[in-house]
Amino acid sequence: MEQPFDCLVIGAGYAGSVAARELAERGSRRVLVLERRDHIGGNAYDYPDGHGILIHKYGPHIFHTASKRVFDYLSRFTQWRRYQHRVIASLPRDNPEVVPAHKRTQGRLCFPVPFNLDSLEAAFGKADGGRLGEKLLDAYPAQSQVTILELRRNPDPEVAAIAEYVYEHVFVHYTRKQWDQTPEEIDPATTARVPVRLTRDDRYFQDPWQGMPLEGYTSLFRRMLDHPNITVALGVDARDRASFSEGQIRLDGLPFSGPVIFTGQADELFAFQEGRLPYRTLDFRLETHDRQFYQTHGTVNYTVDQDFTRITEFKHLTGQRLRDPVTAIMKEYSRPYTGAAGEIPYYAIINPENNARYDRYRARAARFPNLHLLGRLAEYKYYNMDAIVLRALELCDGLLGDKEGNP
Ligand code: FAD
Ligand code: UDP
Repeated sequence: MEQPFDCLVIGAGYAGSVAARELAERGSRRVLVLERRDHIGGNAYDYPDGHGILIHKYGPHIFHTASKRVFDYLSRFTQWRRYQHRVIASLPRDNPEVVPAHKRTQGRLCFPVPFNLDSLEAAFGKADGGRLGEKLLDAYPAQSQVTILELRRNPDPEVAAIAEYVYEHVFVHYTRKQWDQTPEEIDPATTARVPVRLTRDDRYFQDPWQGMPLEGYTSLFRRMLDHPNITVALGVDARDRASFSEGQIRLDGLPFSGPVIFTGQADELFAFQEGRLPYRTLDFRLETHDRQFYQTHGTVNYTVDQDFTRITEFKHLTGQRLRDPVTAIMKEYSRPYTGAAGEIPYYAIINPENNARYDRYRARAARFPNLHLLGRLAEYKYYNMDAIVLRALELCDGLLGDKEGNP
């Protein structure tokens, strides 16, 4: 018996869906996508709640990229709502005298994150903050931003005092909540995602292309997977239909020699034989409030107090305007991933020991000549959506040989 498919894709998130579309369209391959959830979209999945508000089930997702290729590619499947994400920190005031009244929200101090020259003035007052801002600009004349770890190494006492302020009021407690570690203990690339800005630009991301899919992410995925050469099977754990043993992959009991793209957890694929790869998981608390808006910004980070890290209000992201005064917010609580049923591994804990364990799984995968590990889980990386889209496009460039898809 012959296999009815040329390619097998496991997982229908960004990695799997882009790869499936490319192989089906550019490569004219017959592609089977197996997804164990009952929906497509992976962690970017969204759905309307009872009021029609689009909820991001697995945490808030804002699209941004510096890659024209990625933006153009996704634009085939969606129009965009122009949206620039802005985030503020909300924290208890520790020095009420210097906080101007208009910067207080319900008795709390609020300032833009990433911490910038306006944040400095909100924290230290206009005069002192302005002077300290000049000091920072003198210390880093050629830079528009500096990471908190680099700022803390500056020997100048006044710059060091700013660094300590930002460390204490933005990073150390939030990072403890998110990772249960200090900013020094986690991968430096993680805190570098949120640098100290030496400008007044208060956008969370600086990429040239930013926005939200006009009708949501799920609808983008629906269009991407809508191709005559693609078959999607939902509610199917690939391990129930495919086996990986002694360098050979079988689908429904028959040898499968075409490309197999796996986008799930690498440790799970190999039955945890090298031990578990550590992750952080999140609990999301969704609340509906009977008012037009709950907060002033799309996301408010609770950088010092509270058990949750941040609150996101979806209507700011989607731009939805409802007749009734109602809004939906999501609080995020981080904790260790244990592998218990229903838990989702959201963040790889990147450090040399875990990377070494991951490399052992990658070596196991390499024994299967037609197996490709792709995506945030399968590659054990802290990838944004756009990075995964690019990885998938580039993997398919390689698999398909040239732009027309000839091998
Ligand atoms: P996933 O989306 O996880 O998809 C993998 C799919 O594989 C899942 O659907 C899973 O069910 C399926 N699967 C796994 N194992 C199997 C199996 N054995 N059989 C069948 N199916 C299987 N990025 C941004 O660019 N902007 C943001 O604002 C942003 N916000 C984020 C917020 C949070 C809280 C998190 C956790 C991530 C955020 N990201 C954001 C990152 C983004 O979620 C990822 O880059 C993206 O979802 C990765 O896509 P993926 O296809 O690699 O993985
Ligand atoms: N971070 C912080 N305070 C903040 C925002 C971020 O300490 O107000 C640190 C924290 O360690 C976090 C990392 O910077 O995990 C990256 O933040 P980002 O908002 O990019 O995280 P994500 O949206 O991926 O959860």
